[in-house]
Amino acid sequence: MEGNGKQAENLDVLVSTQKVIKKALDKLGYPDEMFELMKEPIRMLTVRIPIKMDDGSTKIFTGFRAQHNDAVGPTKGGVRFHPNVTEKEVKALSIWMSLKAGIVDLPYGGGKGGIICDPRDMSFRELERLSRGYVRAISQIVGPTKDIPAPDVFTNSQIMAWMLDEYSRIREFDSPGFITGKPLVLGGSHGRESATAKGVTICIREAAKKKGIDIEGAKVVIQGFGNAGSFLAKFMHDAGAVVVGISDANGALHDPEGLDIDYLLDRRDSFGTVTNLFKETISNQELLELDCDILVPAAIENQITEENADRIKASIVVEAANGPTTMEATRILSERDILLVPDVLASAGGVTVSYFEWVQNNQGYYWTEEEVEGKLENVMVGSFENIYNLSKSRKVDMRLAAYMIGVRKMAEASRFRGWV
Ligand code: NAD
Repeated sequence: MEGNGKQAENLDVLVSTQKVIKKALDKLGYPDEMFELMKEPIRMLTVRIPIKMDDGSTKIFTGFRAQHNDAVGPTKGGVRFHPNVTEKEVKALSIWMSLKAGIVDLPYGGGKGGIICDPRDMSFRELERLSRGYVRAISQIVGPTKDIPAPDVFTNSQIMAWMLDEYSRIREFDSPGFITGKPLVLGGSHGRESATAKGVTICIREAAKKKGIDIEGAKVVIQGFGNAGSFLAKFMHDAGAVVVGISDANGALHDPEGLDIDYLLDRRDSFGTVTNLFKETISNQELLELDCDILVPAAIENQITEENADRIKASIVVEAANGPTTMEATRILSERDILLVPDVLASAGGVTVSYFEWVQNNQGYYWTEEEVEGKLENVMVGSFENIYNLSKSRKVDMRLAAYMIGVRKMAEASRFRGWV
């Protein structure tokens, strides 16, 4: 029983995040009160959203919005539509957003939202009603200078557009800066859709340099073929890497000679599903253990655990997903000298370009794709170097180094405000 309890604790993303935050604050010399402030969001709203379904029935959905810490500035973070959303997960995700904002030095704290639902079983109209209902339910605590939502798992630019429209109706003014990840015609930014994968690509390139691996010809495995995973597969393929494995929620595809990425991109559906078109598939667990140089979990949490960390064959693991590696597995990978680039750094490209989108909305002046990409490149390379160097100088893994840099700005802002 105790063993199971320990295992459950290891898989509890909130508990493991809190443990690393504690370590990072201790290393930086902050008092316990700072940890007490940062271990949970400062604000957590749970809402119940009644929605008329297409068959005439009414369904009540549960949604959340967490605001972790607003000492630095407004909170910011995506909204997830998924059947497995929990309050704890949303809290942990909001803390990770604070860390990401600190790492890439944005004037934000972290926020996150989620609705327990399965958009794969809902019609377009039902999804629109749910998106609008969510905004009505949380409108009091969000806004361009309070808390700025964005897309996450199973939400996209169309959903952002409905949410923006609902917010503008409630507030009776046009406020594109209320939400990011919008379509271009509604004030979205060039490069936003592919920003997370671009940031991951930059981290892979920098990590490969440190490990002396040539991207050209390197074998890459990617778990997840959604927004992050599919763009990444394309960027890796274009850079001359050989993508030998990809997966979705139903299974995985493997070809040691390299998969036909353009064909798979053409056939995937809007939820990132493609393996159902193939007879010969392997499991997601088998995928993670494939022979490769670079492994990128880009799907869901708790995929690399103490159960399989010993069998990971990659030399570099870059976390595009939030929380795919447990703390115990992080220790095992580090002992095996596998370079792990943590989620809070690797997937920060999305929030960075979301910030660029918000800046463009605020100034009413829009940048070219080249400008956005150039700025993103500078931010990601600088952040990677800072964290890599700190991990070497303090002899800690890159996750702890990233947390140390991520909490510092927020802790300093909280201190200056006289909160702690
Ligand atoms: P998505 O919804 O577009 O795609 C998710 C992919 O994961 C799909 O291919 C889906 O089939 C697959 N998947 C779902 N359940 C799975 C399971 N049990 N096992 C294996 N695969 C499964 O989501 P996304 O936007 O690509 O996000 C993926 C991860 O990246 C998430 O952890 C998300 O929080 C993180 N992330 C995304 C962004 C972004 O801008 N999209 C930014 C930062 C972090």
